[in-house]
Amino acid sequence: MTRVDCAMKTNTKLCDKFSVSHYPMLFWGPPTKFVSASWEPRKDKSDILVIDDGRTAERLLNWINKQIDSSYGLDDQKFENEQALSNITNYNQISQAVYDVEEATAEAFDIILVHKAIKSSETSASFIRFIQLLAARHLSRRCRKGAAEILVNYDDLCPSGNCSYEKTGEKNTLGNFPICGKDVPRGYYMFCRGSKNDTRGFSCGLWILMHSLSVRIEDGESHFAFTAICDFVNNFFMCDECRMHFNDMCSSVKTPFKKARDFVLWVWSTHNKVNERLMKDEASLSSGDPKFPKIIWPPKELCPLCYLSSNQKSIDWDLDHVYKFLKNYYGPKLVSLYKEKSVLESKEETVPETEDLTVATNALVVPIGAALAIAIASCAFGALACYWRTQQKNRKYYFHLSILI
Ligand SMILES: Cc1cc2nc3c(=O)[nH]c(=O)nc-3n(C[C@H](O)[C@H](O)[C@H](O)COP(=O)(O)OP(=O)(O)OC[C@H]3O[C@@H](n4cnc5c(N)ncnc54)[C@H](O)[C@@H]3O)c2cc1C
Repeated sequence: MTRVDCAMKTNTKLCDKFSVSHYPMLFWGPPTKFVSASWEPRKDKSDILVIDDGRTAERLLNWINKQIDSSYGLDDQKFENEQALSNITNYNQISQAVYDVEEATAEAFDIILVHKAIKSSETSASFIRFIQLLAARHLSRRCRKGAAEILVNYDDLCPSGNCSYEKTGEKNTLGNFPICGKDVPRGYYMFCRGSKNDTRGFSCGLWILMHSLSVRIEDGESHFAFTAICDFVNNFFMCDECRMHFNDMCSSVKTPFKKARDFVLWVWSTHNKVNERLMKDEASLSSGDPKFPKIIWPPKELCPLCYLSSNQKSIDWDLDHVYKFLKNYYGPKLVSLYKEKSVLESKEETVPETEDLTVATNALVVPIGAALAIAIASCAFGALACYWRTQQKNRKYYFHLSILI
């Protein structure tokens, strides 16, 4: 269930899309249908229904019972988020996580805005590096586009590193550049949804973002991606314990990555080290999500070929197979059901897998400046900052030119 407070200014657009006219207004439908959707009173056929008889708990439950052909009573004991996925050994479930990657990207960006976290030249450089990585290698086209737009406007949004964060008005502020478009964040997670309200969610989405980036980079970008991710977590992940441990693991890498494969496996083994530590913590403190206990991943059920041998204490991995598995799982499999609204038209489209494994260099779908930033980012991360400034100057030059003409 998702609750939206329409009295809040930030929700105005969303509430308008659903023609919210009174309080409480309750909608019913499959979660996927709410993604980028809208509702109008006169629309005959819609997957989203308005609950027209929900004034009391009893009447609401009657209405729901009719919809799902059940006979629940108000005294029935139910666990929170009972429908959260629990069997994560199902290979196909990862395809739902594509929306969580967008959600975590937008949430990470919002956290930076709320905390006004770009405070120094170091955090500014770290932010730019991470945005460059997203502009080039994010699995979602709208996030790539949003990241590229931030990149080309960065000097205006953050002159001399002083960013303006407000989300209101027409001002040129970071807050007015939603990184994954105006429909994200949606306010909920799917694959990463916990069985309790305070578990999983953002941090799960962030891991999947990191894995999905790792499998999309080229050999020559692997060390840049490593630095961008390490610095981003170190500067912007608002969990002191996580930052500290992750930073230790980043610092233990002494030789620059040359191969994307090594980086993919580094993210995977780093995640497993966190899992291993949390397994112990969660066992002694009963913290964590009871339906999603930490495991050394992937379990045999997901990838039998990843295991050469294993016993209670250790696992002998077949790293070639682990790499193959990760490439496919966080590559084509993750985006296999992905639909997003076209950035040119309002029609929904499925993003072809092949396109998602390559960088969006199609200049038609992004503004020219953004496309340039993406193309440049995909060519050479190292040179990006320099080129980006040049093209930003060009952008300003063309802008002045068009005014003069
Ligand atoms: C960088 C970082 C550091 C963190 N450090 C800490 C910490 O120090 N202390 C703390 O309490 N919490 C930490 N967290 C949060 C913690 O790791 C989990 O994200 C959180 O507990 C939610 O767990 P989860 O069950 O959703 O699974 P997560 O661990 O979030 O994993 C998400 C999904 O990724 C897949 N997965 C699991 N392991 C792997 C792997 N090795 N390789 C690839 N895919 C995998 C599984 O499908 C899993 O459901 C950290 C998070 C991040 C992003």
